[in-house]
Amino acid sequence: MTNSETETPQQQAFMQMAIDLAIANVGNGGGPFGAVIVKAGTVIAKGVNQVTHNNDPTAHAEIMAIRAACQELNSFTLAGCEIYSSCEPCPMCLAAIYWSHCDRLFFASGHHDAAAVDFDDSFIYEQLKLPIENRSLPIQQMMRQPSLKAFQTWLAHESRVSY
Ligand SMILES: [Zn+2]
Repeated sequence: MTNSETETPQQQAFMQMAIDLAIANVGNGGGPFGAVIVKAGTVIAKGVNQVTHNNDPTAHAEIMAIRAACQELNSFTLAGCEIYSSCEPCPMCLAAIYWSHCDRLFFASGHHDAAAVDFDDSFIYEQLKLPIENRSLPIQQMMRQPSLKAFQTWLAHESRVSY
């Protein structure tokens, strides 16, 4: 995303909705994050951080919004959609946004703002840049050869649905 374009009042309204969701979620015991997904000028899904509520470390606002939007559209792709996040997405959510094929991402707070209140995902961004052997998480590849059978099975499966 570049900052060279000026947001429209409608885009600002969608972002304000994401911000309001983030603020309200604090009162509900959740993290201060909200996300809204829009298709053709209409909000189709909202999400808030539910990590502690659901005991789910992946229940970030963007992930929740993506899941809700896909349910709403009955589709595994969000092509044609825009996502508005109250904060710059963490690596997991950014990757999920790529996987969802959203057309565009808008975010409000930056990751430095989040780090200032102890939501620091810069560690993960740094880890991703490192070779596997230099990461803090012990990672070991094993049994590659037998695992390739899954891919062979996939390629041989004529009715496979690519995504
Ligand atoms: Zn996230």
